Amino acid sequence: LAKQTSPNGLRFYEPAVQAELEARTELEQDLRLAIDRQEFILVYQSQVDSLGRAIGAEALIRWEHPRRGFVSPGSFIPLAEETGLIVPIGNWVLEAACEQLVIWANDENTQHLTLAVNVSAKQFQQPDFVDNVCDVLTKSSAPAHRLKLELTESTMIGKIDDIIARMLQLKALGISFSLDDFGTGYSSLQYLKRLPLDQIKIDQSFVRNLHKDMDDKAIVKTIIAMGRSLGLQVIAEGVENQEHWHYLKEQQCHAFQGYYFCKPVSATEMVQRSLAPPPIHRLIRGS
Ligand code: C2E
Ligand code: MG
Ligand code: MG
Ligand code: MG
Repeated sequence: LAKQTSPNGLRFYEPAVQAELEARTELEQDLRLAIDRQEFILVYQSQVDSLGRAIGAEALIRWEHPRRGFVSPGSFIPLAEETGLIVPIGNWVLEAACEQLVIWANDENTQHLTLAVNVSAKQFQQPDFVDNVCDVLTKSSAPAHRLKLELTESTMIGKIDDIIARMLQLKALGISFSLDDFGTGYSSLQYLKRLPLDQIKIDQSFVRNLHKDMDDKAIVKTIIAMGRSLGLQVIAEGVENQEHWHYLKEQQCHAFQGYYFCKPVSATEMVQRSLAPPPIHRLIRGS
């Protein structure tokens, strides 16, 4: 922060910093109203198997601000976490995702699709988190065994036994768990060993340069091998080109997500695209 110190030792902020603080306060106020104003939507990004067939999707939130236009989750999720607004927002996401799951479950073309939902550390740590998820599942009658919760390594800070207990309660309902952004956080291999996870998601920072960076190749290869030996499903995110996909398949990564297959789009578009036969060249490559 651009701080200055006056002769008497008092600090004051530069006008630019002041303006930034005001903008932040305004954004926070808008965020408080966004749920009631129905400004959030979910978009869906498909997750595919080694033949490029859709096996599921990840739900990603979007905020359509009345004046600012589209605000990316990267700039409002951290603010929502700091202010606690992530709790009602996260609940809205769960409700909307479960509604989508019900729609998919009622159509034989889509009933196999799983849906992954991002859960913030703060949301997961709420005392009534498990009860809330139960409520949402009951009210929506969504198939819990198609719902996957994505946690990040920041969720693992805290009492590990409590976290495990909570995960087990949700797993008993049929819900599965993925560890998002794997490799970027603080969690030790001890945690990986103890947590009742179903999937790890290789962070896109390791995938991005896979076609040219030998270190990333080594890391990705090792994560896949480790995940597989631990009996976990391994998914890679940020798959952007054919080289990424080929290398990941060669290393026997289970599932793939990225712009190479599909960008995050509306549920309708995602389904239309994943049910369309894959292009011939992809079929040949995937075989
Ligand atoms: P994430 O969960 O790791 O999601 C992956 C992000 O990578 C998404 O960004 C997605 O659009 C983007 N992405 C997917 N494929 C590619 C690719 O091939 N290349 C590149 N460069 N990017 C790709 P998005 O939608 O902007 O979301 C950013 C982050 O915001 C998410 O990271 C997640 O941490 C958070 N987020 C999004 N939706 C929610 C939500 O509903 N709840 C919570 N708590 N967090 C959310
Ligand atoms: Mg995610
Ligand atoms: Mg991620
Ligand atoms: Mg992320």
